[in-house]
Amino acid sequence: MPLLRSWVDSANSASCPFPLNNLPCGVFSKDDRAPHCGVAIGYKVLDVTALEAFGLLRLGEIPLFDKPSYNALMASGPENWRKFREILVDLLLEGSKWALAVRPLLHDLADVRLHLPFQVVEYTDFYAGRHHAFNVGTMFRGPENALPPNWLHIPIGYNGRASSVVVSGTEVRRPWGQIKGPNDSEPKFAPSERFDIELELGAIVGLPSEYGRPVSVEQADAMIFGYVLLNDWSARDIQAWEYQPLGPFQAKATATTISPWIVMKAALEPFRVSTPEREVPLLSYLNEPRPLLYNIDLEVGLRPKDGGESVISRTNYREMYYSAPQQLAHHTTCGCSMRTGDLLGSGTISGPTKESRGSLLELSWGGREPIELQDGTIRTFIEDYDTLVLRGSSQGDGFTIGFGECIGTVTPALNDPYAS
Ligand code: CA
Repeated sequence: MPLLRSWVDSANSASCPFPLNNLPCGVFSKDDRAPHCGVAIGYKVLDVTALEAFGLLRLGEIPLFDKPSYNALMASGPENWRKFREILVDLLLEGSKWALAVRPLLHDLADVRLHLPFQVVEYTDFYAGRHHAFNVGTMFRGPENALPPNWLHIPIGYNGRASSVVVSGTEVRRPWGQIKGPNDSEPKFAPSERFDIELELGAIVGLPSEYGRPVSVEQADAMIFGYVLLNDWSARDIQAWEYQPLGPFQAKATATTISPWIVMKAALEPFRVSTPEREVPLLSYLNEPRPLLYNIDLEVGLRPKDGGESVISRTNYREMYYSAPQQLAHHTTCGCSMRTGDLLGSGTISGPTKESRGSLLELSWGGREPIELQDGTIRTFIEDYDTLVLRGSSQGDGFTIGFGECIGTVTPALNDPYAS
């Protein structure tokens, strides 16, 4: 598919992350107006709530955009998702008769504040990157036993917390927690010293599923509204002590940062790729009916307090062993329903090479091999005031589908977390 040219000039540059082919959904506020719905087009945001109020974007009798989230559109189903994009393309296409009416509803991206684009109702995090699972397993158990015996059969996950999902730009405070190092005789309660990132993609459930009814991989793909970048902040020292036998708990409870723009599934359609070849056959309910991953280039930048940014990782979403629809289908096997606004973390997206590892735990190999930044300083894990930036984009024929940035700065731990 070629670039769809828009009368919003900045949208037509090959490097702009938000061409008319993208139209990602976000929630923004400006001056003293309350947060409401918008889409990014070029380096502008188009006020979707106003479009609806003015009668330029109607998808039924009930308003869908008079609230600070995209949940109502998501719940209204794929036919409306398609119409939503069709109408916006009609309004924004080069030569559109609507340009004069729509132009006053554009705002410079630089002038608006971005909020969570949807109400996150539940959050599940998976562990579906083959290279990540192998790397972490090797560090803890040696290469022979790196992958747990179930790993090639099950997209492994745990139920996380929706309440700690925050939008890009939110500061992340270094957590306190219970920590017991390998040489300690007793656990202590202290600030985490091995605070880390996880480079992931988040899939957002638009259409709910019925309680008690598992969904197929095909149905699961149809339920997904779109994708965001996701940084699953992780306290490795807290995790190492607490994780057996039920998996991570407080180590993952500080924050999960997502990018402010939901890239709709339709925008990613030209970039579909298959999951890697199976090492052992899957049980049939997990088979992929067609390519369900996407070719999305990903990178992580680390910016120290007063320094320039170093790109510490470059990888691609196609490295995942399980796709989001497979994870979502597996999630429903025992009867749990999925809801509009459910968020599924992919698991850390590491590639096969050292430079493509998606966490500092892997990049510094458990802290034993520090990495050097551009300014000559070294890192094993995150230091106070480090800013971490996740970026993602797919290259089309003369255009880029970008996700925007997923940013967080780590601030120092509280002096005394229980001080009144
Ligand atoms: Ca994770």
